[in-house]
Amino acid sequence: MTQASGEIVDEILTVACLLGVSDVHFNPVCDEFAVLFRLHGRLLHASDADSSLPQTVSKAAVQRLKVLAKLNLGEQRKPQDGQLVVQSAQEPCDLRINVMPTVRGERLAARITSRHTMLDSLASLGMTDQQQEQVQTVLREQSGLIVVAGRIGSGKSTTMHAMLHEKSKEGASVLSIEDPVERYEDSIAQIQVDERQGLTFSACLRSALRQDPDVLMVGEIRDEITAAMAVRAGMIGHLIMTSLHADHPALVITRLLDFGIRPHFIETALRLIIWQRLRPVYCECCGGQGCAQCHQLGVLGRKAEFQVMTTQTLEPLFFAMQMHVQSIPTCGRDEGFGPIYSEAETSRYGVFPERFERPFASRN
Ligand SMILES: [Zn+2]
Repeated sequence: MTQASGEIVDEILTVACLLGVSDVHFNPVCDEFAVLFRLHGRLLHASDADSSLPQTVSKAAVQRLKVLAKLNLGEQRKPQDGQLVVQSAQEPCDLRINVMPTVRGERLAARITSRHTMLDSLASLGMTDQQQEQVQTVLREQSGLIVVAGRIGSGKSTTMHAMLHEKSKEGASVLSIEDPVERYEDSIAQIQVDERQGLTFSACLRSALRQDPDVLMVGEIRDEITAAMAVRAGMIGHLIMTSLHADHPALVITRLLDFGIRPHFIETALRLIIWQRLRPVYCECCGGQGCAQCHQLGVLGRKAEFQVMTTQTLEPLFFAMQMHVQSIPTCGRDEGFGPIYSEAETSRYGVFPERFERPFASRN
């Protein structure tokens, strides 16, 4: 391992942190690795984002990264996870590293979370005053289920953490079950799911409820048992917060039904749906055409947009659910909730949908 290969990795990661890159990819190409950045949702060569960076790096450079992430250098046939902290000029950045064997060799991806961008209040998320008030009202309750919904990568966990911070500021007992814990926070008791050790979401949830929490966040509902436990806990005196992948706010109810929750239980437990998506913030210099200022992306970043549904607005959905489960998504659309991206937007920003999960299969 040469000194140069180590330096180039440090340089790539430092620049990535400074630019606000969310992911760095090292893709095996012949004997080298192509270096790609995901910036504001779009994937581009690191060398296009910053001309001082190389288009490819050597195997030694990737080995160096594996050393930094405390991964097993001898293991090249199994996926590995690790983490490391990069000290950039502004602030430390946390990196989660995953190495995956492919037919061309190991592929390495690093997810970057900047501590600086942690949003610790509802106001900082970009909700309207009315939406903040609606959310605050539900947060003051002693029990119920709050669901934050949206596509993968739409900022759901940022929103949940902002709500947890609001509660912890009041001195509430706040627990969260996460997979993975992306950043450590002093005011929240965070529990890392570890399925290999039997610490599944449902096992953590069962145990966490005995820890006398005022608010309990279940990072994600992935199975029927967790869904049932979360809904039940929300009905019997716990404030439970969780997230679901859904292309549309009304589909939250469909998903809960898919997990086998009875309509009556959903209606009793569900207090709030926060549905969100990220919209591009266009570069003012070039009007979205691409220029040096925006690294030819046309966008300078993304900001969250919210739809907040409280029990009042949920009422028609509950009614539709009781009457006829199939009509739920349509019912929501009649309320003025259009599809997330128009055809034109999807083709113009064709790269955004790729970042997201495919819409989950419909019920029929
Ligand atoms: Zn521009």
